[in-house]
Formats: sequence, structure tokens, C-alpha cells
Amino acid sequence: MGAVTTITIEEARERILSFVPLLDAVEMPILDALGLALAEDVVAPLTIPPLANTSMDGYAVRAADTDGASDERPVSLRVVGELAAGYVFEGHVEAGTAVRIMTGAPIPAGADAVVPFEETDEPEGRNFGSFAKSRAEVGVLKTAKLGANVRPAGEDVHAGTTVLKRGTVLRPAHVGALASLGMAAVRVHRRPVVAILSTGDEIIEPGKPLAPGQIYDINAYSISAMVSEAGGVPKRLGIATDTVEALEQKLSEGLDADLLVTSAGVSRGDYDVVKDVLMKHGEINFWTVRMRPGKPLAFGTFPSGERRVPHIGLPGNPVSSMMSFELFGRPALYKMLGRNDWERPRVMAVCDEPIENTSGFTQFARVVLTEREGVWHARLTGSQSSGVLTSMATANGLAVMGEDVRALAVGDVVECLVLS
Ligand code: AMP
Ligand code: MG
Repeated sequence: MGAVTTITIEEARERILSFVPLLDAVEMPILDALGLALAEDVVAPLTIPPLANTSMDGYAVRAADTDGASDERPVSLRVVGELAAGYVFEGHVEAGTAVRIMTGAPIPAGADAVVPFEETDEPEGRNFGSFAKSRAEVGVLKTAKLGANVRPAGEDVHAGTTVLKRGTVLRPAHVGALASLGMAAVRVHRRPVVAILSTGDEIIEPGKPLAPGQIYDINAYSISAMVSEAGGVPKRLGIATDTVEALEQKLSEGLDADLLVTSAGVSRGDYDVVKDVLMKHGEINFWTVRMRPGKPLAFGTFPSGERRVPHIGLPGNPVSSMMSFELFGRPALYKMLGRNDWERPRVMAVCDEPIENTSGFTQFARVVLTEREGVWHARLTGSQSSGVLTSMATANGLAVMGEDVRALAVGDVVECLVLS
């Protein structure tokens, strides 16, 4: 193994992103595709609405027939039919006639406007389905404009147009749009399976009793949750003790994954076993990334048949581990998913308390962001020790201090990443 190289955050991310692949496209039911990125443009196979239809309950008429109609001088039209949504009127609306019509029903041939019930002498207009009882004539009390209350065919979509672009991340409205086109399934990039392994003799599974010297496995859970949130499928491999055999055994169970994530054993002087196994089987680089928390990071590939599985070795420290996954793992998953929107929104915030950066690297301080009178304010979530995971749990933002920013005073403005 060569020396540990020191690189910037951007460099580390570029190296990782240049290696991870875009995953293949698969067809799946539109609801299962929620949150996934379209693998191809969606072209409308039909026009929506396919037929002009009414946006109001009322009477379909020929607008010209209603010229001059008023409360004092109603225009009387002969009612020749009644039409609910879902049916088509077989006849033709001739001059002097009207069809009683319900919202969504196609405009009968010959008609070119809809007079709502409120503008007729039948303002209640609600006893639909009793045409036999309804009157043979209707009085129109207002002049209808040509096309009034008519939703034209193709008002929403014309057949042949591109409705959704490749790469669109499907949200509820997109799922609805696909349904409107009659599409039950859609092609999207599949979810990456991420194998997650914790390492360390001291780590035990939550739910078991804790012996002196032991700690519960945090990383497998926080990282699995981040994987799920990003749209991936976590596959927890459990915990490997610090022996070559245990590590080899556990890693072998994760080689069908799209990405392998291990935690711990990458800090200087304490990664012997992880290092040995990775050096023996895979290709691995140990980096010091110019950031805090989270400076030790390993990245490499692990052979799996013909494939090489990308591997990210996160630091053991739970805060560092989440921070490194946020900056490197999440973008890698997004790339696999066909998404390019991994960057968090940023705001400029006023510091409500001083923040120090003694690391000489870019520092991410866990902060609570609040908006007061249109101005964002940031205050620390408490101890910034990378051992304090609760400082991460209460944060909704990360204040980013550049390498050369040693201290921020109250009132200074700092750029913050918005986490939630
Ligand atoms: P290491 O990288 O092995 O030196 O670990 C750094 C620190 O992180 C040590 O205090 C470990 O006990 C702790 N640590 C490592 N893995 C985990 C884990 N999965 N959950 C919680 N803490 C961990
Ligand atoms: Mg360890």
C-alpha cells in the first residue's frame, strides 16, 4: 500500500463518481417507481382529454342561440337529451336545442358552449338522472360565449409530445401524469443494493445486552437509513470482528451488491485487518480527505466474478461516518440511480454563536437553522465532538467553514447546507 494521500472533498467525490456506474433500466409499476429517475423520455400515446368535455354541470348549447339572453328575456331551448360523464351523446345539437350535461361528459356534436345551471331557470340543477321528470325546455338567462366551460381536447397533452424527460425523478404528480396516459408501468433506473458491514470487536447488535467495553452498532443503522432515504436498498451484513476470517466471510456475503460500504478500521494505525483483507482481495486507496469530521476514507473495488464492486470504507466514528456517507455515498447512489440532484440546498445564515475551526480543513458544523424576519440564523447543536451523535440528530443544517476560516464570530454570515 502506498502512502495515505491527502485530497480535497471535490477530488474524492470525483474519483468515486467516475468509478460508479449508472444502473440498468428496468420496467416497473408506476407506483413502485416513485422517487426513481426515468430511464427514457415519456411520449404521450394519446391526447388528454381525448374529447372536448364540459367543466361544469349545465346545458350544452349552440352559443349563437343564447345571444341576447337575460333574466328579463330568457332564451328557451328544447332539451333533447341528458348526458353523464362516461357516455357519448348519439344525436346532434340542432339550433334551438340543448343537452343537459354533467362535468366531464363529452360535448355533444353541434354544441359549442356549456351554460351552467346557475345561468338557467333551473339554478338548483341537481336532480340529475330524473330526466323523465325534468322539463322539456330550459330557459337560458345569460349569453354564452363560444367555447364557454368547454375543456378542449388536448388541453392537457397532445399525442406524440414528450411529457416527461429522461432523468425526471418521479413525484406524485408524475405518477398521476403517467396514469393519465394509460401507462401502468414505466422504465426507470433500478435501486442500488448497498451491502453494509460494521467492523470492530467492540461492536454488538442493538437488542443484545451490552458487556463492559462494548458499544452498540450505530453505523449499520444510520447508514442503512441514509441508503433507504436516497432510494437504495440496504443489505446489512452484520458485524465483522477484527479478524481476517470474519471479515472475509462477511464481505463474501455482500459481493452481489452494487456498492459495498464498511465502517471503521480506516483511521491511521487502526485499520490493520480491514486493510489486510482489502489489499489481499481488492484494490484500495486510503485517503485523508481535507474535511472534518470524516477525514479518513477508503475507496476501492472488490472483485466479484467478472465485476468489480465499488467499496467505500467509512470512518468508524458515527458522526464522521454519516458525514462521509452524506458527502460521498449519497452522490454515488444518486449517480447509480440516474439522478444528478444530489447537492443540498444552501442558505446564508447569521451565526448566533461563535464557531471555531481548528482542523485546518473544511469543517462541517452541525447547526440548527431558523428563519427570523426573513433572515436565516445558525446555532450549534451542542458539542461538535465527532463522538456526539446527538449533535447530528438535532441538526437540520451543516455550516460549512472553509480551510482558511479559523473562527466565526456572532453576527458573521456562513454558508449552510440544508439537511431537512
Ligand atoms: P475505528 O475506525 O475502528 O478506530 O473506530 C473509531 C471509533 O468509532 C471507535 O470509537 C469505535 O468504537 C467507533 N465505532 C466504530 N464502528 C462503530 C459502529 N458501527 N457503531 C458505533 N461506533 C463505532
Ligand atoms: Mg476499530
